[in-house]
Amino acid sequence: MRTVIYPGSFDPITNGHLDVAQRAAKLFDRVIMAVALSEGKQPLLSLDERLDLVRRSIGHLPNVEVDHFEGLLISYVEERGAQAVLRGLRAVSDFEFEFQLALINRKMSEDFETILMMPKDTYTFLSSSMVKEIARLGGDVTPFVPTAVLGALAARFGPIRRKH
Ligand code: ADP
Repeated sequence: MRTVIYPGSFDPITNGHLDVAQRAAKLFDRVIMAVALSEGKQPLLSLDERLDLVRRSIGHLPNVEVDHFEGLLISYVEERGAQAVLRGLRAVSDFEFEFQLALINRKMSEDFETILMMPKDTYTFLSSSMVKEIARLGGDVTPFVPTAVLGALAARFGPIRRKH
């Protein structure tokens, strides 16, 4: 059983995250989307909401599941018996951070493997923070997020005021 952990804040999950998870689901027996508590980042959505939105967005993917973790990623990876960690790479600008993260994790745990995957080109500009900013300003985020997320954003920021 080859398992990959896809960790992130998922505040909220976007179509870019989903695209990467879908691609990984073809390569691994099991993909675990691991929602980080991410307290330091002061997330918009609570951990329970983020977990619920991921769960409702992956219903069509039988070998993708959701979990949460706090503390060191290397400990969680060991605990779940996973072979690798998956991260998304949108542009060169993501590379430096992801490279550093992969290497520091390997410094702490020799067997730590990171797999970087690129989303479909239409999602390379997409981030959870952009989605939140557009929703806050009343823009239409329908093309960017799974349907489940629309309700959660509308509850926070009110209905869409401007269709693009
Ligand atoms: P974190 O707080 O750990 O960066 P995020 O939820 O922002 O959590 O992102 C989790 C992972 O998903 C990161 O590797 C990030 O680069 C990647 N990611 C975010 N948005 C996209 C996207 N649109 N396409 C592909 N990967 C993405």
